[in-house]
Amino acid sequence: MSTPIHAGACFCGAVSYTVTGKPTLSAYCHCSRCQIMNGSAFIWTIHFPASAFSWTHPEQHDAATDTYITEGKPWKTRFRCRKCGTCVASYNNKTEHWSVWGVQFERDEKGVTKDLDSVKPTAHIFYETRLVDVNDELSKWEGYEDKSTRIL
Ligand SMILES: [Zn+2]
Ligand SMILES: [Zn+2]
Repeated sequence: MSTPIHAGACFCGAVSYTVTGKPTLSAYCHCSRCQIMNGSAFIWTIHFPASAFSWTHPEQHDAATDTYITEGKPWKTRFRCRKCGTCVASYNNKTEHWSVWGVQFERDEKGVTKDLDSVKPTAHIFYETRLVDVNDELSKWEGYEDKSTRIL
């Protein structure tokens, strides 16, 4: 099989990126930060090592994005499109990993995510702060998958 490459972009398309290869984590995150930042009950988050991520928009990369550093988490920088305001990715310089949201990956004409199988979520993480119960077959964790207590 060839190496999977997923292209992601903000809502307006001014900021875009690719991630290459298998993610180190793909899960539905129910943490309160993700909920508040996305206005959503939970979000599909995917982690890739630094070497797997590249910006692909043509402008000077810094000129197209705003950055935001969460108070108390100085190692984590979030990148946001300057035009449409969508958060597109964040970089953790402690773990040297990017995290992106699978909802932004390229889709086919029907709106189905391309090559979904190579990046499919395997768990629900930070499930204690959930706003909705999810009755699927995936495991549910207090924190990160395999690094915290399993709830269900
Ligand atoms: Zn945008
Ligand atoms: Zn989260």
